[in-house]
Amino acid sequence: MPTYIVLLGPPGAGKGTQAKVLAEKLGLPHISSGDIFRENIKNNTELGKKAQVYIHDGELVPDDLTIEMIRDRFSRPDCVNGAILDGFPRTPAQADALCKMLKGFGGKVNMVPFISAPDNVLIERLAGRWTCRAAGHVFHGIFNPPQTPGKCDIDGSELYQRDDDKAETVTHRIQVYLTQTTPLIDYYKNRGVLVEINGFAPIEQVSMQLLSALK
Ligand code: ADP
Ligand code: ADP
Repeated sequence: MPTYIVLLGPPGAGKGTQAKVLAEKLGLPHISSGDIFRENIKNNTELGKKAQVYIHDGELVPDDLTIEMIRDRFSRPDCVNGAILDGFPRTPAQADALCKMLKGFGGKVNMVPFISAPDNVLIERLAGRWTCRAAGHVFHGIFNPPQTPGKCDIDGSELYQRDDDKAETVTHRIQVYLTQTTPLIDYYKNRGVLVEINGFAPIEQVSMQLLSALK
């Protein structure tokens, strides 16, 4: 049976950081909707051009574009055994679409770790986040510094600060999360797959909570 894990939580909770850990442990692909959008923006594709303005403003990209993009990602053969989804779904319509897509593989959402942390912690994390150009690996100036400032430990590529990580956009993204994404907490609770994870702990301790929830 394939294993599909959806990481839920506000911006800055640690979804990307933990998705990489889980993907490695379980040998599954890490699918980050934000990374795919940023790749499309970098390559100036039609999707990138459409998504750019929403991302810049800290708004959600419309459901139809986002769902189509994920459907396209799922058409690649590496997803048949499962995947770690990070940043998708973010609305109930996306969650319904995901459920239908996975049925096509004979799969379903098996587990939804809901990672939370207080707003002031999220803001501090995003203000200090450094992201790698090549593969979206993330570091933090204080909490998870790279060995060489400005360089990714994993692939040596340049680290940059995301344009939507500036303070005013972050505050708006947290609001957008509260209004549009938090209904997914009950959505997955009602389906018996939600697991609450305390994201306000050091990275290794959050990983330990996740790995023990998997057992
Ligand atoms: P998300 O994908 O949920 O937006 P990230 O994984 O990108 O979150 O993490 C946001 C920032 O916080 C990054 O700079 C990351 O290095 C840092 N970070 C992630 N988890 C923790 C943690 N448990 N403690 C401190 N900093 C963290
Ligand atoms: P973070 O984990 O810090 O919230 P992401 O990298 O997941 O950021 O997403 C960055 C931006 O990309 C979001 O603010 C939003 O504009 C867009 N985005 C990513 N995933 C989705 C999604 N599932 N639905 C709509 N927009 C999305």
